Amino acid sequence: MYTVQCIDCSYIFGDSEDEFGLCTECGKQQPASGSWATEETARIENLESEGKPAEAVAVAMELLYMATDVEYGDWSFAHRLAETIRRLCDAGGLSKESREHELHWKLIEANQMGGDQERTEAYERWRKSREG
Ligand SMILES: [Zn+2]
Repeated sequence: MYTVQCIDCSYIFGDSEDEFGLCTECGKQQPASGSWATEETARIENLESEGKPAEAVAVAMELLYMATDVEYGDWSFAHRLAETIRRLCDAGGLSKESREHELHWKLIEANQMGGDQERTEAYERWRKSREG
C-alpha cells in the first residue's frame, strides 16, 4: 500500500487529503508536486531538445522511481512523468524503455491496496478530478 507522509512529523495523509497542502497534524505546508526535482526536470527538457530521447527517458525513469516511492510518493508528478516518458518513447521509437515503463506501472497497480484494480482506478479518478 502506498502512503504519503508529512515532511515534518511523518503524519500519514489519508486518501482524500491533499498531500501538497497543509499537514493535518502539525500544519506544515508540504512541498509542491515535483518541486524536489526541478533540476532534473530541466535536464529532461534539455536532453529532449538536444534530440536525445533515450537519455531523457533514463533521467525521467529515475525520477519516476522516486515519485512512486512507497513512503514519499508524489503521484501528481509521477503522472506527469508518465506522460513525458510515453511521449519520448513514442517519438524516439524506444520500445525497450517503453516496456520497462509500463511494467513499472503494472507493479504499482499490483502493490496498491493489494493489487485491487478498482481501488487504483478510483484513486486515478480522484486525482484527475482534483487536477481539473
Ligand atoms: Zn506534519
